[in-house]
Amino acid sequence: MSVVAVAILFFTHLLQVAQVSHGLNIEVRDPQMFQNGAEQFGSRVWHFDSSDGKWIIVSEPHKKQSPNDRCGGIFKCINGRAECQSIKFPECTKHNVDLVFLVDSSGSLRNADFINSKSFIIDIMKNMSSTSIQFAAVQFSSDVRTEFNFSRYQAIRDPEKLLTNMQHMMLSTNTHKALNYTIGNLLYNTQYGAKEKATKVLLIITDGDSTDFDKDYDYVTKRLDEKHVIRYAIGVGSVNIKNLKSLASEPKDSNTFYVNDYKGLRRILDNMQDRIYNVEVMERKTEMSENRKMGSAK
Ligand SMILES: [Mg+2]
Repeated sequence: MSVVAVAILFFTHLLQVAQVSHGLNIEVRDPQMFQNGAEQFGSRVWHFDSSDGKWIIVSEPHKKQSPNDRCGGIFKCINGRAECQSIKFPECTKHNVDLVFLVDSSGSLRNADFINSKSFIIDIMKNMSSTSIQFAAVQFSSDVRTEFNFSRYQAIRDPEKLLTNMQHMMLSTNTHKALNYTIGNLLYNTQYGAKEKATKVLLIITDGDSTDFDKDYDYVTKRLDEKHVIRYAIGVGSVNIKNLKSLASEPKDSNTFYVNDYKGLRRILDNMQDRIYNVEVMERKTEMSENRKMGSAK
């Protein structure tokens, strides 16, 4: 007997119980059948009995209602009705997050530093590959260059392959030019796979003060604030903390990180990943709270 058959048999038995039972009594003389045809339909069943009537909730773990669905299919089956109604819980849906790594590739980094920086973002992507977060990477020095966009990440999903051609640029540190480039060309660009309703996150890794601070791009961080882009700023070595904080979003103290050298990035890996996971949870809670407010305002 296949697993599927067992599941359906189990389900059928429970439905028979649901139809005719009072409390825990079992009656099989007049069963009502609910069928869905899916592989795992009925893997779990919950009984409800209220002033509104009796019904059962049936799960179908393999069915995804959306690509980010974490609960699978959930159905409400009411006595006397042939078909079960699919229901959706907001708790089941992960919030979309578009995250761009902004990597300092200036000449003040040794080649080993640059490699450590690359390894750090590779580790984050590998450890978070099963989440709904989609990544992109930009490196900056005098110029700015997209190493891979969101579409390419979705197509390949192998961090090492995606960063194969990332070469150390070795010139100045145009951080604000890079921020401006990212917001204008990548973060909201649906042609490159950006999702319209995703929460936007920048993770900036730099070893020093930007060479274009307060020159041509002093409006950039304000623009990012207005768009509620979450920014984590990681400073390495002899970086000016005040300038580093100016890159981070509020609360700046907790969104700014400092390590002595590029090897130290490994020590903040877990903390950084927790922060990124929390973005997804935080946004999901906000969304649920907003939905509740809208529901109560009706
Ligand atoms: Mg530099």
